[in-house]
Amino acid sequence: SGPEVARLVASRVLDVPDFPKPGVMFKDLMPLFADGKVFREVIDGIVEYHGRDAFDVVVGIEARGFVVAAAIAYATGVGVVPVRKAGKLPRPAHSVSYELEYGEATLEVHEDAFTAGHRVLVVDDVLATGGTAEATLDLVERAGGTVTGFTVLLELGFLGGRERLTPRPVHALLTV
Ligand code: AMP
Repeated sequence: SGPEVARLVASRVLDVPDFPKPGVMFKDLMPLFADGKVFREVIDGIVEYHGRDAFDVVVGIEARGFVVAAAIAYATGVGVVPVRKAGKLPRPAHSVSYELEYGEATLEVHEDAFTAGHRVLVVDDVLATGGTAEATLDLVERAGGTVTGFTVLLELGFLGGRERLTPRPVHALLTV
């Protein structure tokens, strides 16, 4: 159930102060990925929430989103599309740039990544300010996908990512 999965996430996240820079509390979910039983329950929880037939493809955001996306894809029999940082994709790609606290970041997806009308579930490990997610959702739609869901394992509620993404639905297994 939802509360049980939330407890599992809470039990497998490590708080790392001042990473990657002073003042940031990094939420490290590697212990969750490393625990096979917990990882499976978390993945099953996401699939159960959205429904097994609610999406045709899963998008993972580089890099920890890839881990989550691949597991959901395998569990449901759909494919994975990676959204990558600039310069990694070998063929023509759409790209979206967005503001970071310091500077700018660019995300890309192959132009032919989506079949028209395909329903896309987007996943990542952590939702912070929502800039990464907003850019990814724009990118998927620009490439012809229809975003039907966005899920993260952990949401940092005080950073306002959910509000930034309004009216798009945001699903988090755990919000802190
Ligand atoms: P944002 O664009 O601010 O929502 O940042 C989200 C992206 O950065 C995700 O891909 C996260 O993996 C990563 N991220 C941002 N803040 C944190 C944090 N405090 N702990 C772990 N990952 C984070």
